[in-house]
Amino acid sequence: MDSPAASAYPGGMSEPTTPMAIALQEARRAAEAGEVPVGAAVVDAGGRVIARAHNRVEAPPDPTGHAEILALRDAARILGTPRLVDCDLVVTLEPCAMCAQAIAHARIRRLVFGAYDPKGGGVEHGARVFAQPTCHHRPEVVGGVQEREAAALLKSFFAARR
Ligand code: ZN
Repeated sequence: MDSPAASAYPGGMSEPTTPMAIALQEARRAAEAGEVPVGAAVVDAGGRVIARAHNRVEAPPDPTGHAEILALRDAARILGTPRLVDCDLVVTLEPCAMCAQAIAHARIRRLVFGAYDPKGGGVEHGARVFAQPTCHHRPEVVGGVQEREAAALLKSFFAARR
């Protein structure tokens, strides 16, 4: 555990306070439910986490049930608008192309993600959605936040399934 935020929550029993710590807690809940451990949180202009979600693909079942999509839906419902202009999205893994496009549609101000995803990512890899001329909103992007912790969750999840 190399990050201060990780050591602040020994055993994961304390209530996390930073948006990424909340997203990581959601990712752990996903793993417990047999879902790929990805968690997300939407933060409003005042810095409050207004929505949080983890992957729910297998159980519903729902091929679009990625953490980012579910968190954006909740935030839009809570704020009563599909345009989350002053909100940030924090997610443990680089979003796929589907989620990146949804983030653009939602007019998210800043995207913060944990681990980079060379195989499935659509922001810094693959489709690079925000760099396309057909993308009409490009959020500020900050990658690699608590990257090792987010990546370790994914690694142990897939190792256990082999
Ligand atoms: Zn996605």
